[in-house]
Parts: sequence; structure tokens; C-alpha cells
Amino acid sequence: MTQETGGFAALDLHPNIVAAVIATGYEEPSAIQQQSIPIILAGHDMIGQAQTGTGKTAAFALPILNRIDPAKREPQALILAPTRELALQVATAFETYAKQMPGVTVVAVYGGAPMGPQLKAIRNGAQIVVATPGRLCDHLRRDEKVLATVNHLVLDEADEMLKLGFMDDLEVIFKAMPESRQTVLFSATLPQSIRAIAERHLKDPKHVKIQSKTQTVTAIEQAHLLVHADQKTSAVLSLLEVEDFDALIMFVRTKQATLDLASALEAKGYKAAALNGDIAQNQRERVIDSLKDGRLDIVVATDVAARGLDVPRITHVFNVDMPYDPESYVHRIGRTGRAGREGRALLLVTPRERRMLQVIERVTGQKVAEVRLPDSQAVLDARIKKLTNSLAPLVADAEASHGDLLDRLTADIGCTPRALAAALLRKATNGQALTLAAIEKERPLVPNSAPRGDRADRPSGDRPDRGDRERRAPMPLAEGRARCRTALGARDGIAAKNLLGAILNEGGLAREAIGRIQVRDSFSLVELPEDGLERLLAKLKDTRVAGKQLKLRRYRED
Ligand code: AMP
Repeated sequence: MTQETGGFAALDLHPNIVAAVIATGYEEPSAIQQQSIPIILAGHDMIGQAQTGTGKTAAFALPILNRIDPAKREPQALILAPTRELALQVATAFETYAKQMPGVTVVAVYGGAPMGPQLKAIRNGAQIVVATPGRLCDHLRRDEKVLATVNHLVLDEADEMLKLGFMDDLEVIFKAMPESRQTVLFSATLPQSIRAIAERHLKDPKHVKIQSKTQTVTAIEQAHLLVHADQKTSAVLSLLEVEDFDALIMFVRTKQATLDLASALEAKGYKAAALNGDIAQNQRERVIDSLKDGRLDIVVATDVAARGLDVPRITHVFNVDMPYDPESYVHRIGRTGRAGREGRALLLVTPRERRMLQVIERVTGQKVAEVRLPDSQAVLDARIKKLTNSLAPLVADAEASHGDLLDRLTADIGCTPRALAAALLRKATNGQALTLAAIEKERPLVPNSAPRGDRADRPSGDRPDRGDRERRAPMPLAEGRARCRTALGARDGIAAKNLLGAILNEGGLAREAIGRIQVRDSFSLVELPEDGLERLLAKLKDTRVAGKQLKLRRYRED
């Protein structure tokens, strides 16, 4: 165990939980974990104000695991999450942290999957149930006793649950559980509606909020890039092509990520190394010395390992993984812009982490501008610029030293000086792609736009579904949403507002619950909450719009 892992060890968690956390690669608890774990372990109700990216899942999962009894084969903890994606993510996190707790099982309960196996897993003794409210209510309708043994309840992203219209479902769920239970509520914001729930259903809750003071970071130019988590490495590689850096530090969350990213960079020819808490102190010092004197240009580090790192050559900081809190962001980007020099900081933001970006902007009092991935032309221009810069200083005296040789070679080969220069360039650039076509072929498929995929504004036309799909990659759906289709379109006199009005009125949904609406000539697409979708579609069965039956159906892209 390295000295940094003492952080988790000091939290009074069961050694098997601590061991699993350390095996995951976490080096120390984040601020929200530091504060919440002791409160939940002590059995208190709690309100935690935290968003995705702060480490909030482990903040409740670790103490809840500690409090359940693996020997009892019945549901003991219920975690409610607004979307199927989050429910799956939370369930996976529980499984990871429970790896060394034999007998503990976790079941994820969400809409869009058959109910039978979910109910069976609950009855077979899963102690942890992670559920979306809509589907859980469906189960309760079949068996009102499913939650009778649950004595720990966590509401994760409570504000999102209310936005998706789950208020009534939550009330049903509260009633189905013992009143003596422990209740923990996490929410990024605490509007009146959430406070009212807390008032009614939590007992003398402790409050945890990560206080953030405004901090200034003026000498540093900041930008962010929206990217899906699995495209981070290719995004980093693309950015490196066009960023004019001297030395660079990249921050990631786990030890494994430092190793993976450093080796991906090395494979592309960068002088890169990993720096994490597992690396012995003298080796860490060697890495930092190499960064100082230019034997290394990129270091991929965890927060812990980069503590105190002061290398004036660092011109760039890449936050490949989101920091847990704004303070840590400010701390990280402070590694550049040293000694009054200008620095540049880039933050990769996954769709779920946008809120954290807003918090960072608020705390630093600065806008973190959005950048896009460079396109092939930008990559080509950057490569040619590098080549120009490397050759330009050689031109001045090369003719004096190698001019005669050039004459001789052109004569011997029987070619023009241009042909010979081209051959030498090919050799010097060692197969590097230096035309637009070659670059396009070699580049990984990173979308050039942010992963929001809003194409509602594209021109509509009377295209059949299939042709439409063939022409464009499917538009990414927001989390927790399902796409539905109706055969009513513009030619039926339909506009988006008619569809919206009909669904709001008849479906009883909150406005926020409805995503994009796209009206084409002969059909329309509407994004609706995945959870509870079947019930909603049943409710809308007889709805008419512009005098015609809506007949909304789930739309499958594949
Ligand atoms: P969350 O805010 O719960 O969505 O967590 C965001 C990410 O941080 C997840 O990928 C977690 O695996 C990771 N994470 C949570 N706690 C820690 C920690 N103490 N050290 C490193 N990574 C963590």
C-alpha cells in the first residue's frame, strides 16, 4: 500500500471494501467522499449537493456496502437513479466495490428490459437494488412487498428525477419502504421541490456541500472539448497534432489510465511517461527531471502523483479526466503558466459532465471556451508547419555544404533537383501522411462536432427512413431517452408545437421530459423518457393531432 492510500484506509470502511477501491486504482478519497462516508457510515440521513464527476457514486456506495449484511439474502439497499444509463453505471460501480465481499449481489432494474429476470434477481436475494423509479413502480404494482426489507435508500441525481416527472413514482416508492430506513439524497441543485421531499422524507439530515471559493487563473488560456469517454485517447492524439506545446502534463483519474494513455502516446512517437502513486519516489523524481530537461515532453499523471510538480517548461495542461472539484481544477492548471509565462489548459468534458464545467466556470469566474477537434486540413497545416520549422534553419548553409553533392546526384540519377528534393522529403518524413487524402485515411473516426448531435434544424425532406439512416450516422440520443415515431408529418399539417402540446397534455409529462422533436414531410420523431415508455405510449394510444391518430411507436434504428 502506498502512503496515499491511507486516505481510504482511514475512513473506517471494511478492509475488503478498501482493498477493492485500491484495486480500482483510486489513490485517495475525493472531497465529497471524504465528507459523506463518515456520515452515511454512522447511519445518518444526508443531503449531498454534488454533481457527476465529483466521485459521488463511491461517496454513497462504499458506506452503503459497509452497512449491509451479506449473510441476509434480501434487498437491503435501494438506489434510485433517473436514467437507465445511470442505473447501470451505479450498479457496475457497486459490483466493482463489492468484488471482495462474497455473497453480495447487485441488480439493476430499468425499463426497456424484461421484468421477469429483474424480479427473479430481487427474489433470489440481491442485497442492492439499483432502479429507475418508473420501472420500480411497475414491479411494486406486481408485488407490493418487494421493498419491505430495504433499510437504506439513496436518491441519486434527485433533481434530474423530478425533471423527468418521477415525483409521483417517488412517493409510491417511499410508501413501500420501512419508515425506519436511512435516506440519503444526492442532487446537483437544491430547488424548492427537492427541499420539500427532504423535509417530508428525511430525518434530521446532515448537509454536505463542497464549498468552492472563487479563484483566479488569469495567465492561463482555457478551453474545453466535448467528447465521449471512449474517444478520449483519439481526441488527445488529434489535439496534440495542432497544439504548439513545449512540455505538457495530462491529468487522469486512475493509475491504470496513466499507464494506458502514456503507452498510447509513446506508440505514436511522443516522449511520454506515466506518473502515479504506485511509482517509487526516486523513479517519480527521474520522470520529473526528464520532463525538465526535455528527455520527456508529456507526463500523464494522477492528482496525487503530480503534487508539487513545478516544471517551467510546461506550456499545456490537458485535463483528460474531469477533476473532482473546481479547486483541484485550478490546482491542476496552475502547473502551467509558471513564472509569469502564458499557459494553455484544455479540459475534456463528457456529456454527463457538462454541469461540472459550469461549476468550474462559476468558481474561476471565467468562461472556458469550447473548441472542436481539428479537422484534417488543420492537421495537415500543423504537420507542414512543423516540417517547415524544422527545415527552415537548415537551408541557409546547406547549399554550401551539400550543393555540390546535389549536383552530382541529380546528374548520376538523371533527375531534376525537384525530383531529388521530393525523394529526400519522403525519406525524411518517414511515411508520415502529408496530404489531405492520406490524413483522412489514417485518422481515427472522431466526430468533428460535439456529441450533442442536435440536427433538429437540418432541412426536412420526404425521405424514407432507410435512406435517411443510410445517409447519416444515427443521431446520438440523450441519456435516458427513447426515440419514437409517428407517421404524421408536415404534409399532414403537423408542426413540432402540435406534437409537443398533445404529448404534454395527454401524457402528463413535464416539458423537460420531452427531447428533440423532428418533423419531416411524411413522419416525425420525438424523444421521450425511456423509463415508463410503454405506459406513456399506452396513455397516448387514442391521442389525435390535427384530427388524425398520433399512433406513436418506439422507433428502432437498427
Ligand atoms: P461520479 O462522480 O460518481 O460519477 O464518479 C466519476 C468518476 O470518478 C468515475 O469514473 C469513478 O470511477 C471515478 N472516481 C470516483 N472516486 C474516485 C477516487 N477517489 N479516485 C479516483 N477516481 C475516482
